[in-house]
Amino acid sequence: MTEALYHTDAYLKEFDAVVTAIDGNKVALDRTAFYPGGGGQPHDVGTLAANGETWNVVKVSKQGADVWHELDREAPSVGTQVHGAIDWDRRYKLMRTHTAMHILCGVIFRDYGASVTGGNMEPLKGRMDFEFETMRQEFVKQIEEKINVEVTQARPTSVKILPRAEAFQIPDLIRTKINLLPAGITEIRTIEIVGLDLQADGGTHVANTSEVGRIRVVDYKSKGKINKRIEVALD
Ligand SMILES: [Zn+2]
Repeated sequence: MTEALYHTDAYLKEFDAVVTAIDGNKVALDRTAFYPGGGGQPHDVGTLAANGETWNVVKVSKQGADVWHELDREAPSVGTQVHGAIDWDRRYKLMRTHTAMHILCGVIFRDYGASVTGGNMEPLKGRMDFEFETMRQEFVKQIEEKINVEVTQARPTSVKILPRAEAFQIPDLIRTKINLLPAGITEIRTIEIVGLDLQADGGTHVANTSEVGRIRVVDYKSKGKINKRIEVALD
């Protein structure tokens, strides 16, 4: 089982760990700061180093309770002490982008009552789909202004890990379809943009909305009568 250091400290850039299993070029570690991907946020990349050698981590994925790190060549053996470093420049851009997406869905729900149905992001770019029948092109400027107000308000974010039963009592979480989480999950991680948005989420976020910087709404598409897609970009 891999301890998910990224769940409690999104700003951790380097860490020490031990190889617990190998599978070809892949290693599982006892702890990691590498985000394995999920919730629309791509996995991290970076390096592992041991005994004067450095490997590139090209892919990261979660399988059961283990986080697997795919390396650019033959993996170090089980029991090796490694030093991991994530590509922080890329990860920090993803953290800013992920928080921007939550600002967007928080504002759209608060001001238009529309729920998010999906989303995806890459560094400094993201898209979200909403059940938003009344969305019109004229709203784009309005939405852009409203989300940037939340950036300048410098709202703190807060991460909590709650027992499932407790999380199911929170109305904001129920509306974001928490009930779709598999029954086997006993703890729910939540991310709150204080005063704006609360969601069950495994991703990594900035500590304050001021870190996101200016958000631009770069595209809006109608994906049918009800479903609308909004795309944003950061500077
Ligand atoms: Zn999220």
